[in-house]
Amino acid sequence: MSASDELEIDDARRIVLKSVRPLDFVELSLDDALGRVLAGDVLADAPLPAFDSSAMDGWAVRAADVASASASEPVALRPIGESRAGHPASQALAEGETIAISTGAMIPAGADAVVRVERTRRHESGSVVEVLEAVPAANDIRRAGEDVAQGAVVLRAGATLGPAEIGMHASLGRARALCSRAPRVSVLATGDELVAPGETGRPGTVRDSNSHSIAALARRAGAHVVRRATLPDDAAVTMAAIAEGAADSDALLLCGGVSVGEHDHVRPSLQRLDASQRFWGLALKPGHPTWFGTLGDALVFGLPGNPVSAMVTFALLAAPALRAMQGARDPHLSLTAALDGGYRKRAGRAHAVRCTISARDDGWHARPTGPQGSHMLSSMLAADALAIVPGAVSELPDGARVRIEPLRALAGGRL
Ligand code: AMP
Ligand code: MG
Repeated sequence: MSASDELEIDDARRIVLKSVRPLDFVELSLDDALGRVLAGDVLADAPLPAFDSSAMDGWAVRAADVASASASEPVALRPIGESRAGHPASQALAEGETIAISTGAMIPAGADAVVRVERTRRHESGSVVEVLEAVPAANDIRRAGEDVAQGAVVLRAGATLGPAEIGMHASLGRARALCSRAPRVSVLATGDELVAPGETGRPGTVRDSNSHSIAALARRAGAHVVRRATLPDDAAVTMAAIAEGAADSDALLLCGGVSVGEHDHVRPSLQRLDASQRFWGLALKPGHPTWFGTLGDALVFGLPGNPVSAMVTFALLAAPALRAMQGARDPHLSLTAALDGGYRKRAGRAHAVRCTISARDDGWHARPTGPQGSHMLSSMLAADALAIVPGAVSELPDGARVRIEPLRALAGGRL
């Protein structure tokens, strides 16, 4: 990989997204649908609300009957029944009559308005209700279809199902949501030095953080992690594990061993397996030794081993691919922010700077999380977003506008 072969991150992402093939669909119960991507448009078979109902506790009336009502000259009506939520009145309203009504209860036939209970007075006898104010027709009535008209397209394919989208399915009487199936992902970390978090280390060993952080990122992107393993720096083992991982995965995520060292077996293995390379080398720091291609039907990402590099390249390339596979309308998101404190670097590769993000009166502000070494996982802890400082730039002044790519929902997320 020479510097001139290195791809800009946006070009790399275009190549990745072009290689994505959509996954097939599954029907999920609403309890299982949170965060999944809708596979088809959702139409309203019936209006929402389904019937005219009261917005208040009060009395259903004919507006014409109470047109002259006031506190000093109330209009007396005769109560003939009750409409409660779930229990409509059996009678229809005639002139001079009223029906007690609860919030959400069906408007009785003959009524065209509701007077809220505070504007009425009921005689102790129960046989007279005095209305203390005139109300226009339709007063405090929720009309059938005023939320969603029958036949309306309520949700479009590609929408990510959050709590409101799940609630809308339920409101429309849909107990299941048609979603893309979860991408099957394998995560393979390479390195003789790696030990599992629960193992006691020997001198020179390193706890395997990548297979955990990358699996967590994959799950957050909607994937199902079917296999997670650490591999020694061994050519035969690496090749066998890659072949096996690619065979039963939509995406294979390899971490480490992808560089040009004598003990880096990922690329030679991919080559021997006849994987099709789409790119090798990004003009990005951290993350330049990144490989992408396909093996059979699987997308294969050779992510750098350094813990920050692995997470950054996953976030910028693999997460959008996993979301795109699921048919997500916006597989990735870019915003702009003011970069507080500015930034200095050598002109050359673009930098993906880990930043905290805060919302101020003048918009989003990004601030680097601290030392940015690609081995410094602590720099990811507070990182809300990556600020992309372009390659040609060597210095950004305080407050310069930069592109940011969120790593998590900003400002506490959305409902
Ligand atoms: P490599 O890309 O294999 O040359 O690894 C680059 C650096 O990342 C080395 O310092 C490795 O020890 C470290 N590293 C590789 N894989 C992991 C991992 N799974 N967890 C933590 N550190 C790793
Ligand atoms: Mg290694």
